Amino acid sequence: MAFVHLVGVSMKIVILGAGYGGLRTAMNLEKLLRANHMTDTVITLIDQNPYHQLIQELHHTATDGSDSKAAIYEIQHLIRGRQIEFVQSHVEAILPGEQAVALSDGQRVTYDRLVIGLGSITDFHGVPGAAEHSLPLRTYDNALAIRDHVKAQFKAASEMNDPKEQRIALTTAIIGGGYTGCQLAGEFAVWVDRLCRDTGAPRSEVRIALLDRHDVLLHQFGRWANSEAEKVLDRLRVSIYLNIDVEAVEPQILRVSGNRVLRAGTIIWAAGVRAPDLIAQAGLPTDRMGRARVDRYLRVEDREDIFVLGDCAAIPSGLGDETVPATASYAMRQGEHLAEALFDEIQGRAPRAYQPLKLGELVSLGPDDGVGNPLGMPVTGYPIQLLKKGIEQFYRSSIISL
Ligand SMILES: Cc1cc2nc3c(=O)[nH]c(=O)nc-3n(C[C@H](O)[C@H](O)[C@H](O)COP(=O)(O)OP(=O)(O)OC[C@H]3O[C@@H](n4cnc5c(N)ncnc54)[C@H](O)[C@@H]3O)c2cc1C
Repeated sequence: MAFVHLVGVSMKIVILGAGYGGLRTAMNLEKLLRANHMTDTVITLIDQNPYHQLIQELHHTATDGSDSKAAIYEIQHLIRGRQIEFVQSHVEAILPGEQAVALSDGQRVTYDRLVIGLGSITDFHGVPGAAEHSLPLRTYDNALAIRDHVKAQFKAASEMNDPKEQRIALTTAIIGGGYTGCQLAGEFAVWVDRLCRDTGAPRSEVRIALLDRHDVLLHQFGRWANSEAEKVLDRLRVSIYLNIDVEAVEPQILRVSGNRVLRAGTIIWAAGVRAPDLIAQAGLPTDRMGRARVDRYLRVEDREDIFVLGDCAAIPSGLGDETVPATASYAMRQGEHLAEALFDEIQGRAPRAYQPLKLGELVSLGPDDGVGNPLGMPVTGYPIQLLKKGIEQFYRSSIISL
């Protein structure tokens, strides 16, 4: 691909989304420009929320396991003293033909270079009633909604006389046995003990059901991880249902394959994400999950001026048709890479291609257990928790001190 350099010209860089990828791009680029006394580039960061969310901590927020503010940071606070303009608004449309984005407050923001880091949205896979009658876990608000709903169910159950109704109120069904569902189920299993003590609801009637359409949990991992996850969650009294397709969701009812019905006071949807619709609506080339197809420079195919990263981007991994996994750690490193690439371009240098660094994934299963493959090595148990906590602390200090 040819690169058009904008040497010596003041440049307007607009970054959509202050998540793991977008925030990192903005902060690292600003730091590079400031260190080189380059003041004629304007960085505008746009997010619908006033806060940056630590999405990988949301299973704690949803189960009251941490201070409810521990998973968010005020964006204005993080960028204080930096040459970054923050606009809190919802992006309604990307208009590549006009080099502009349209915001819900009526503003149009123009750009020379656009970085799209809008994350993903819950994919209900067209299951009837799922969007209306289940609670997704993708945002901080979602996590608070789950927490409040479950607390209310347990409180109501403690006052019920009908054992059948009580059992329904105390049943939580989690749909999706991937990272999100497994992490949430593990945390839930421990939380319910405390909830029962606090509300007086009978522990013996509590059920946590984890359902997945695959024949294993954590199907992205190898067999060793699947069986370890099942073992740990079994021990935590999570009921695992595999090879189950959810066909419809109604209020407190799950209709699943084989004409079976599960009644649950809380139904949580953790069965997948896809990119926001506005990427395809902008006419950008997309894959089947709606993610923008980008090249090894994170540029949208055949566009000089639009970059995409994180969950919104289908980035070639270099291995056949595979794309880079959608995780916070990849999004963050893509943000670091993009900051350098944009800085190179401003300076008239050809940017380097992005090389995904495979550091592995870590999945917590309750407060003391987990599975993962750090640096490709299969690891289980408490070391996963230690690694996760270390990474979390590293991340927190990195956004505060950048
Ligand atoms: C429950 C859960 C647990 C997870 N756990 C882990 C984990 O343990 N480890 C891991 O590596 N990954 C984990 N992930 C995946 C990880 O969170 C994502 O891959 C990561 O957040 C993607 O980063 P991003 O920068 O693309 O988007 P995000 O971090 O999601 O940021 C997107 C930003 O865009 C903003 N936005 C979206 N739409 C609009 C709009 N229209 N207008 C304005 N602003 C908008 C949002 O407010 C948000 O701030 C988890 C995901 C979930 C849902």
